[in-house]
Amino acid sequence: MSLPSLSTAILLAIVSLLFSCQGENQSQSDESATGNGLSVAVEESGKTPEGATIHLFTLKNKNGVEARVIDFGATLTALIAPDRQGNMADITLGFDQADAYTGSHPYFGSTVGRYGNRIALAKFSIDGQEYSLAANNGVNHLHGGVNGFGRVMWTGKEITREDAVGVELTYTSADGEEGYPGKLDVITRFLLNNENELRLEYEAVTDKKTVINLTNHAYFNLAVSGDILDHEVMIMADGFTPVDEGLIPTGEIQPVEGTPFDFRVPTAIGARINADDEQIRFGGGYDHNFVFSSGEGMQKRAEVYDPSSGRVLEVLTEEPGVQFYSGNFLNGSITGKGGKTYAIRNGFCLETQHFPDSPNQPQFPSTVLSPGETYRTATTWRVSVRN
Ligand code: BGC
Repeated sequence: MSLPSLSTAILLAIVSLLFSCQGENQSQSDESATGNGLSVAVEESGKTPEGATIHLFTLKNKNGVEARVIDFGATLTALIAPDRQGNMADITLGFDQADAYTGSHPYFGSTVGRYGNRIALAKFSIDGQEYSLAANNGVNHLHGGVNGFGRVMWTGKEITREDAVGVELTYTSADGEEGYPGKLDVITRFLLNNENELRLEYEAVTDKKTVINLTNHAYFNLAVSGDILDHEVMIMADGFTPVDEGLIPTGEIQPVEGTPFDFRVPTAIGARINADDEQIRFGGGYDHNFVFSSGEGMQKRAEVYDPSSGRVLEVLTEEPGVQFYSGNFLNGSITGKGGKTYAIRNGFCLETQHFPDSPNQPQFPSTVLSPGETYRTATTWRVSVRN
C-alpha cells in the first residue's frame, strides 16, 4: 500500500471509529432517557375509513414485555407476556391490523367512555334536568353510545417517566356528544415499567355537570387460544350488583357468599358457569359488577392464573368495582389475530369501574363530575408467571 493510500485508510478508520463511538453514546443516552431498557416508539399503521392516519405506539421493557396501543379508540391492541417457559405471546384478543379496529367489534382493548357499561333506559337526570342518550343496547345505553370513546380518533404522544414509558392520548368530547352534557377533555395514559406493570391512567375535566366512568375493555386469554374456562379467578369482593334480564343492576348489593359469584378463593371460571342460578342465566355466564371489599386507593383487587401456561394477571385499581365478563357474547363471527376466530368464552374482561347505572342509582358511589373538579383514576395490570 502506498503512503498516501495508507494515510487515507488510517484517516477513514479514525473517522469510522469516531462515528461508531458516537453511535454507542447515542444509544446509551437514548436508553438512559427512557430508563433501563424501556423504550417507546411510534409508527403509522393504516387509516380510518375517513382517511385519518392511525398511529401505533409500541412500549417495551427490559424483560421483553410489550404493550401496543393505537390512537383510534385509545385501544390496547396487544400485551405480550412470557409463559413459565419464557415464551412470549400476546394475551389479548383483537386484530393484527390497526385499521380492523375501525370495523365492528365488541370493544377489543377499547377505552370505554363517557360511561362504561349500562345506563337504564338511556337516560338520567342531574339537578332535575333529564338527559337522553343513544339507546344502543335494546332500550338501554351501553359503553358510551354508538361510537363512545372507543371509535373516535384520539391524539397520542410518547411519554417518558423516570421508571416507565408510555403514550398519552387526549380527546375532547363535545357538549351533547352521545347525549351527555358538558364538553369533556379526557386524557388516557398507558405506562409500562420494568416490574411488568401496565398502568392505565385517566383524567378528565368538564365545563358542565356530567357523568363519567372510564375503563378499558381488553379481552384476555392467558393461554393465548382456546377457552378461558380453566383460568382460575380471584376477585376480592364480598358482594356483587345483581341485574335484571336487561343486565341493569337491581340496586342491591348481594353477598357473594354461597353463590357462583364467590371468587374470594381462586376458582376456575368454568367451575360454576353453568350453575342453575338466575344471575348466571341473565348474564349468559359472568357479566356482573363485583363490589370490592373494604379499603380505598390503589389496591390489588383481582388475579387470574392460567395453569396451562403459568401466566398470572393481577389487577390493581383505585375503582370501587369491576365488571367480570366471561366473553359470553363472543360467537365465532369475528376473525382476529393470526386468523383465529373468537368463540364463546375465548376471552375474559376485568373492566375496573364505578357501578353500572350509577347515574340512576343514588345509593351507588357517585359518577357525577362537576366543573372545577378533575376526574382521576388509575388501574394497573401486572403480568407474571407461577411454576
Ligand atoms: C358488558 C357485556 C357486553 C360486553 C361487550 C361488557 O362490559 O357487560 O354485557 O356484551 O361488554 O359489549
